[in-house]
Amino acid sequence: MESIDRALGGRMFIGGEWREARSGATFAVFDPGNDTEIAQVADGAIDDGLDAIDAAHRAAASWAEVPPRRRGEVLRRAFELMIAQRESLAHLITRENGKALRESLAEVDYAAEFFRWFSEEAVRGVGELTTSPGGAYRMLTSLQPVGLSVFVTPWNFPAAMATRKIGPALAAGCTTVLKPAAETPLTALAIAQVLAEAGVPAGVVNVVTTKRSAGVVGTMLDDPRVRKVSFTGSTEVGRVLLEQAARRVLRTSMELGGNGPFIVLDDADLEVAVASAMVAKFRNGGQSCTAANRFFVHARVKEEFCARFAAAMDQIHVGYGLDDGVEIGSLINARALDDVLCFIDDANDRGASTVTGGTRLGNVGNFMRPALLMDVPLDARCMHDEIFGPVAPVASFESVDEAIELANATEFGLVAFVQSRDIGRALAVADRLESGMVGINRGVVSDPAAPFGGWKQSGLGREGHHLGLLEFLETKYVAVDW
Ligand code: NAP
Repeated sequence: MESIDRALGGRMFIGGEWREARSGATFAVFDPGNDTEIAQVADGAIDDGLDAIDAAHRAAASWAEVPPRRRGEVLRRAFELMIAQRESLAHLITRENGKALRESLAEVDYAAEFFRWFSEEAVRGVGELTTSPGGAYRMLTSLQPVGLSVFVTPWNFPAAMATRKIGPALAAGCTTVLKPAAETPLTALAIAQVLAEAGVPAGVVNVVTTKRSAGVVGTMLDDPRVRKVSFTGSTEVGRVLLEQAARRVLRTSMELGGNGPFIVLDDADLEVAVASAMVAKFRNGGQSCTAANRFFVHARVKEEFCARFAAAMDQIHVGYGLDDGVEIGSLINARALDDVLCFIDDANDRGASTVTGGTRLGNVGNFMRPALLMDVPLDARCMHDEIFGPVAPVASFESVDEAIELANATEFGLVAFVQSRDIGRALAVADRLESGMVGINRGVVSDPAAPFGGWKQSGLGREGHHLGLLEFLETKYVAVDW
């Protein structure tokens, strides 16, 4: 069955079967771009969550024994199936998330690539056999699947945040239960269908949809069969899950919030800087953890950078995500739009000036003109909190040391951007930034082949890259009298 039809059916995927919540409860999923209901989806409760844990536990031993090559082939097939359904999957993402179709197409490509990447990594097993220092015995070190893993994902990249976890988990030989965001459960269900078609055995991937995340996830994490939790979302919820995980000393991976600085040095190529800023800020309509949140521009080039940036922003086509040519669609919901507009009011109240944009568009959906704010004081909320919308606040600096100090003055450390014609200079700045990822003269860093993750309160662990596979493996050392 086509994965989109399956998703729109709104049933959960547990133990290889599509089923209602035991209670029969459902919740509505809306198109944020036109406020219409798209589907009713099963509202899972604690017993449904435990059914999924049962199913994943039953499948665990046999999946761990499937040869790595075979696991890789299943993932490769899933990659091909996703690409074959690229258009329809992208359409579904736009409908439930509101982002522009071109963004959804890019997300499907990015999401599918995690399956391809980890299909290749699945067979790159590593281990060691050495002689003990005293020569008395041999030391055998190998890696084994960590076991049943629970995933909690956000709404902003409903496909990629799921495949970035499922890909390495399956490659490593783990079984999984995914709890997608309540705003965007349909894409997760479509991906479950893709994986089933690709040959993933029943119980290896389960999807529990729910509006009662705290209770359902909390109970799953307390279950002694669960060995790992991998979360992508806000730092606030990440802290809650870390506390819960501590009760059973679970392995954790945390991909949390960001507050990315975008530094424009005085020798930057401003054409490149603006092109990079457009991507860093407006990819996914600004609703991205890797979005540039604070722009620090050298005082000598500030006026010109802002003039060029504003001109580029004025060209952005905002509209309903499925309409032709749209570059930025709807924000996820009315609350998100209100929050973003409040950031602008707060900055202006404290002395910033709005160069362009910042107004709501229409009364249906959650649209706004992208905003550029200049001379934003450092105490403005947008210089501390994640904006998660299409607003670019600019402050200036006089010296490189000052720029680095400003950039690092945050508890977050996910991504940072540096613009300079002098690569040596940019690399020296990158070296001093407290950030898990740095983009130099470009506005996007995400790549399945690269280690994605943050420092400080932006998270723990890495996704993508071969490090992403290690997150799902345990080390075993065996001492052998040869
Ligand atoms: P969120 O509110 O933290 O929600 C993320 C997920 O956690 C959703 O599935 C949500 O379910 C669930 N959840 C909420 N409270 C929970 C609880 N008490 N127990 C268990 N699960 C709970 O984040 P969001 O608003 O969806 O996403 C935006 C945030 O994600 C931003 O901070 C962004 O920076 C971050 N993010 C980080 C990365 C990264 O890789 N570092 C990537 C993307 C996004 P419900 O939908 O039912 O509330």
